[in-house]
Amino acid sequence: MSVRLRRAQTDSGFHPCASWWTRLPRELARAPDGILCQMRPIFDAALVNRTFGDPGVLIDLKFERRAILFDIGDVSGLPTRKLLRVSDVFVSHTHMDHFAGFDHLLRVCLGRDTGVRLYGPGRFIAQLEHKLAAYTWNLVENYETDFVITAHELEADGRTRRAQFRSRGRFEREILPQREAPDGVLLDSSSFRVRTIPLEHHGIPSLAFAFEEGTHINVWKNRLDELGLPTGPWLTNLKEQVRAGAPDDTPIRVHWRTRNGAHDEMIALGELKAKVLEFVPGQKVCYVTDVADNPRNREALARFLCGADLLFIESVFLYEDRQHAERKAHLTARAAGEIARAAAVRVAVPFHFSPRYLGREDEVRQEFKRAWREAETEAG
Ligand SMILES: [Zn+2]
Ligand SMILES: [Zn+2]
Repeated sequence: MSVRLRRAQTDSGFHPCASWWTRLPRELARAPDGILCQMRPIFDAALVNRTFGDPGVLIDLKFERRAILFDIGDVSGLPTRKLLRVSDVFVSHTHMDHFAGFDHLLRVCLGRDTGVRLYGPGRFIAQLEHKLAAYTWNLVENYETDFVITAHELEADGRTRRAQFRSRGRFEREILPQREAPDGVLLDSSSFRVRTIPLEHHGIPSLAFAFEEGTHINVWKNRLDELGLPTGPWLTNLKEQVRAGAPDDTPIRVHWRTRNGAHDEMIALGELKAKVLEFVPGQKVCYVTDVADNPRNREALARFLCGADLLFIESVFLYEDRQHAERKAHLTARAAGEIARAAAVRVAVPFHFSPRYLGREDEVRQEFKRAWREAETEAG
């Protein structure tokens, strides 16, 4: 019996917002005893603005009470409660429509004690420093909390230069040690990671991003009951050991108390893994914007996006304006659809349409959809 993830999806597959949740097999979902991991959303991924607005995607990690942002152009449409959850911002490149919203985020979050981390391409730290230097900070050092901005800048050699800017230090740059970014991994948390690749955009790099969840480990409560085992902190230990790759003969201690006294059992990790755990592959959400249509970018994207569950991809121009697209180093809707098709993504959402197509939005969508879904039919 397997557990699958499915998505809130409209028939067209173009809904700009996606919720992901664990779907339980019907008979088990109805079982009176239920299951430890009930049907519930895992995360939301949604465009920050409508198709013609500034590009950006917010991934809201519901259980972790945090969110990450891909690009930070105009974010004034996001409610403050959402902005306050943003822990990490990944900036593809620093053209204004991708970076101008930093001031708004800072204004909303200043005084918060958790800080925010930002990631961007070469020269990003200096550009952030200049933004911060544009204001007078003589009052901010009196705030109760120290708001810390940590900036990461991806070097051409694949390492990241880092610096921090603290409100108590009047946002002066403080250098932090460099870090490796193996395989383009910028952020690696216990439940997900964010990877990047640099792509070509008008003589500068533009970073594409992939949010990749780790495997979900669910515990079947009805199977615990069958074995006469309780729920409790030992399950957290079991999951941690499994995630760490501990061998199957690792003993797991289950200790609990009932009216009849204390119980203590040692059970092999392999047995518990087989009997009470269910493994659900994590989801992959990708974000691609402001890239030239050339063979190098296409090849890199085919690998990077491979098997994505959800892809947000720019579709700035129509194919009829492909020469203009080439001059501006952007994708046409047709090119974007072909890239989505080559990577066999499950759901694709085109965005970042040129304002020249206001009133012709459907044409851009149709061109994208034909290239993504119907290329074979056309070729045949
Ligand atoms: Zn742009
Ligand atoms: Zn750009």
